[in-house]
Formats: sequence, C-alpha cells, structure tokens
Amino acid sequence: MAVEAESHLKENPFRLAQAQLRKVADTIGLDDDIVAVLGECKKAVEVAIPTTMDDGSVNVFTGWRVTHNVARGPSKGGIRYHPAATLDEVKALAMWMTWKCALMNLPFGGAKGAVVCDPRELSLGELERMTRRFTSEIVNEIGPEKDIPAPDVGTTPAVMAWIFDTFSMNQGHSVLSVVTGKPLAVGGSLGREEATGRGVLFCLQEALGRQGAALEGKRIAVQGFGNVGGAFAELASGLGATIVAISDVSGGIYDASGVDIAAARAHGRAGGTLVDFGGERITNEELLALDCDVLAPCALEQVLTRENADRVRAKLVVEGANGPTTPEADEILQGNGVLVLPDVLANAGGVVVSYFEWVQGLQELFWKEEEVNRRLKEIVSGAFAETWARHEHDGMPLRLAAYGLAVERVAEASLIRGLYP
Ligand code: GLU
Repeated sequence: MAVEAESHLKENPFRLAQAQLRKVADTIGLDDDIVAVLGECKKAVEVAIPTTMDDGSVNVFTGWRVTHNVARGPSKGGIRYHPAATLDEVKALAMWMTWKCALMNLPFGGAKGAVVCDPRELSLGELERMTRRFTSEIVNEIGPEKDIPAPDVGTTPAVMAWIFDTFSMNQGHSVLSVVTGKPLAVGGSLGREEATGRGVLFCLQEALGRQGAALEGKRIAVQGFGNVGGAFAELASGLGATIVAISDVSGGIYDASGVDIAAARAHGRAGGTLVDFGGERITNEELLALDCDVLAPCALEQVLTRENADRVRAKLVVEGANGPTTPEADEILQGNGVLVLPDVLANAGGVVVSYFEWVQGLQELFWKEEEVNRRLKEIVSGAFAETWARHEHDGMPLRLAAYGLAVERVAEASLIRGLYP
C-alpha cells in the first residue's frame, strides 16, 4: 500500500548533498575522478516488506538500505521510519554519514536505511513484524564487519533489539555488533541513548568557549523534541541554560523563563505530544524566528530555507538534525553573521557512541558510563578543534571546514586503496 505523506523535503536532498560535495571539492582542489566516485552511493537496495497487520490484512511497506562509501571501514548509519522517506533522502543521509564518521576519525564508511511508514500508527506487534521482515530482506547486506545499522528518526532501542534478534536467529548465535543503539540488556552501551544530545551540547560549549561566552544563561530554542532535542535540552538546562522554546510535530511551546524540560520529557515518554502539554503555544515556524541566543534544529532536513533563514534571530545555530539548513539558507545565515555548527560535527555524538557499542560488542567487554562520556568528549572536542582551526586559518565557514576535513580523509583512503580491478 502506498503511503502518501506531506513531505518535509522542498528540494531533492541527494542533489543538494552532491552540490555540497562539489563545492567542498572545489575549495580543497579535489580531483574530478575522485569527486565522481564520492558523489554516488556504492549500493542501494530496495525491498518490499509484506507485513501482516493486526486486522489480518497484509500491508507491503517499501524499505531501503543504502551504502555510500566503505573506503575507511564498514558502513555505519541509522534506519529511519518516516511516512515521507524517499530513496534520494536515504542516499543523502548515507553520504553525510560517510563525512560524519570520517570527521570523527571512526573506522567506518557511511550508510542509511529507511522504511516508508508512520510508526505512530502501527501497533507494537505490527512494528515488530515489519522490522523483522525488513531485517530478513537486508540480512545479506548488514553484519558487524559489513554494514551496521542504528536508530534514526522514528526508530528506537526496541526496534534495534528486533534487528539484533532477527539477524542472530538467522546466524544461529548472538551477533552483538550487527546493530547499535540496542537496549542495555542485550548489549547496548551506557550513554548511547543521550549520546547525540550530549555531543550537541559539547559542540555548543566548545563554540561558546571560543567566543569567550558561557552556556549559563543562554536562551535556547530547540526544534524537535525527540531523542536528540530532548536529551540536548535536558542536559543544557541542567547546566544553567534557559530553554525558551521546544517543539515537535504537533507544534511548539514558549516560555521566556524556561520550559520545564524534565516535565515535558516525562509527558513525551508517557505518549503525549506537546499539543496537550500546556504553556504558550507557538508554531514550528515561529520557533525558528524567536528572539534567543541559540537555535537548535533537532528534527528533520530542510527546516531553514531561503524563505525563512533571514528571520533567524539567534546568533548561533547548532544542527542536531541532519541537513536542517539548505545551502541557500546557509549563505543567508552566513551573510547575517550567524555561526552555524554543522550537522556532521554537531550531531556526531550518536555515531561516536555507536562505535563504542560496536567495539564493546566485539570484545564482549563493557565500559562504565564515565568512560563512554569521557571518550565521547575527547573525540567530539578533538574534531571541533580541528574544524575550528581550519575555519580560523582558512577563513571558511565551519561547514566547509568540517566537510573539507572529512572529504579529504575519505579521498585519501580511496586513493591509497585504489580502484578494483
Ligand atoms: N542516526 C544517527 C546519525 O544520523 C546515528 C547513526 C549511528 O549511530 O550509526 O548520526
């Protein structure tokens, strides 16, 4: 059954990602042949996922697993459940995973997957059957030394547990490192759940530190109150920032004296959306244009566009989401003196701790939470310092600096390995 959903994508995301690569390549003087290789995805698998629904009918979902590049190691990236997912969106997200892993210096390439569905409209049983069938359809694509999925928009640790179990049942033994973001009871890592939000926080602290400013007292608006935005808001408010607004698909709420983040998260965990949380209501569009110090888009791609970028009043944008700013919006923000902490840097905390989970699973040796968080900070802050140094030295925006570093690393690995045959 085809699912028709209103799309968040105003432009083709893969074309944007390719144009972004071209711009980076021109800046760093990359050979055309290597740009041609890096501009395409190595492999894209489309599957039909017949699923028995609770009423006995069969619904055939569409799913993809896309590998962009494996020059630096097995491919890594999440699986998204979203009604408006498209193949070109998954390709763009896979490419960004390659850059993100390279910028963090992880021994991974990039991948992404998606199933076109609205997980909120599926029962737990339907979600499990669909996930298990999807895993079966891509069972030859994934594996600890090959391609390792993880959570993304619309997927949870429970979904990762079904992927782990289905793959393991097919192998005849538990394969812990086939997927990350698992629940703790089945080989998950301490600190993984809030790792992306924690990485966003570290980047913001690093940037504020470079400006001689502190997090305390900063007024932050957070668009998207899921795993990333929720954890980030909670951590930041715990350190004295004021979260003046949050939003989800149902809209947003505003409180100049600070939204009660712990209460809002508890409300979300109990299944509520912000529409029935209370407080002064605002739209997602209004949130983006709020008078605040920091804007954190933590939901989907293409929320900051040429239509609204001029209205952003925050002086710092930290991209908890992948691809929230279109290239045109990027230029407008830059022209207005807004500092943008790019996605591949700002939201890399998740995949960094996924890497730790993969390592722990392979070694069957698990770390303390302090060790996870300490190593996370080391990697994210190290990547921030490298990116900042290039930004200052070459006078280029942070996005170009971050993507430049990443693309150079992937290009170097590709050139050293050479083309087969
Ligand atoms: N989906 C997350 C991202 O976009 C995490 C990927 C992972 O942990 O592999 O970075």
